[in-house]
Formats: sequence, C-alpha cells, structure tokens
Amino acid sequence: MARRPFIAGNWKLNLGPQAAAEVARELAQGTVPDGVTVAVFPTALSIAGAVDILRGSRIDVGVQDVAAVASGAYTGANSAPMAKEAGCAYALVGHSERRQYFGETDEACATKLSLVFESGLLPIYAIGETLEEREADKVTEVLHHQLEVGLSKLQDDQLGALTIAYEPVWAIGTGKVATPDIAQATHATIRAWLRTRAGAVADDIRIQYGGSVKPGNAAELLAQPDIDGALVGGASLTAESFLAIVAAA
Ligand code: PEP
Repeated sequence: MARRPFIAGNWKLNLGPQAAAEVARELAQGTVPDGVTVAVFPTALSIAGAVDILRGSRIDVGVQDVAAVASGAYTGANSAPMAKEAGCAYALVGHSERRQYFGETDEACATKLSLVFESGLLPIYAIGETLEEREADKVTEVLHHQLEVGLSKLQDDQLGALTIAYEPVWAIGTGKVATPDIAQATHATIRAWLRTRAGAVADDIRIQYGGSVKPGNAAELLAQPDIDGALVGGASLTAESFLAIVAAA
C-alpha cells in the first residue's frame, strides 16, 4: 500500500493564542494537495483557537506531549483524553526536547503511546540519535532501543496507524540537515526493525524525517523511498514556509 505523506508542524513553545490563530487562519486559506496529511502542534494554550479555525479544513491539530496518565494530581500536565476532547487528532510523543529537558524515557514513551491510542488519538513517536552517538557509531543501537522499548506496549493492530518521526538530534533547530542519503539509509534501518516487529504492516507505517526541514530542502528529502513526510519545527511557524513544504509533498 502506498503511504500517504504526512507533514506535521511542531510549533513548540511559540505562537501564543493570538499569533497561533493568525497562522491558523492563513493555513486554512492555503492549499493542501490531495493525498497529503497535514497537522500542526500548537502549545497547549493555543490548541482551542487553532482547532476552531482549522475545523473543516484539511489540517488537523495535535498536542505536543501528554502525561503518562489520563488524569489526577499532576500539576501542569496535559492529558491524552482531554486533548481528544479539545479537538486534537494527534499527539507527539518522545520529542528530543522532552527527552533532553524533561527527562522523558523510552519507558514513559511506551505508556504514553498506549494511552494515546486508547484515547482515540494517533501518535507520532519521535526517535533519533545525538551527535556523540552518531560519531560513536551507535545510531542503530540507539534507534533499536527507542523502538523496542517505546513500542513495547502497543498491540499489533495499532502499529499500522503509528507514525515514527526520525529526528537526528544534531539536526534539530541547528540548520544542519541530514543529507537525503543519510536520512534514507537511517529510515531504511528503522523500517527493517519495524518489519521484525510488525511484519508486512511495517510497509504501512509512516516514517517522517525531522531536523531543519525547509522549503528549499524538503522536495529532495521527501523524494526518498522511505521518507514519508516531515516533522517541521522552525519552518512551520509561518504559513508561507509551512505551506511550501506541504506543497513539496
Ligand atoms: C522539531 O522540532 O521537531 C524540528 C525538527 O525542528 P526544526 O525543524 O526547527 O529543526
């Protein structure tokens, strides 16, 4: 089955309610090519406005992180079922900034991924190696561990609806994009692992590339056979550059 390209915009801790609404309005007027899935991930405080504006458009909204529990005494956290109720369709799990600044572990990601599915959201599970790990020739080992543990709580029938985002940490927000050859080779390694876990379903699992994707490099990356979309940070903050990447898909 041909995989439908998926372009996701991670707004991180940018675009408060007013600015997010402005960008969402511009996105709602833009063009999304047939057969392309598009979603934006506003900060939690901007989700409600973005959902209202993008309702009825071809662009969905997602939450940047969820707690490993559905509710309770966890001050400051966001919940998967509540994100669903607020109109989200997707949840991002395991972004490297969550891992780096908030101590997110592969084990916590496993619980979150399971809860995301249970809540009726679809997850994007972000994985990737640091520069030190790449230089030490540990890329495969690191990715396999993130996959093995992170996906350990998912049922076989959930795997086909999963999206993986491969984001080399050294390429996020640095302007240093992985070459299409490096990205393709790493995506092929990820898909080979997915085949051992999910068999033929691995061919349905979308693997996005993330790390300094811009309008100028998107087409070449997206042309690679195992790159099924992009997780875009900086270049998703204006409708113009994000829609240019969407058009490249
Ligand atoms: C990201 O936030 O996931 C990301 C890839 O950021 P950037 O595109 O800015 O490198």
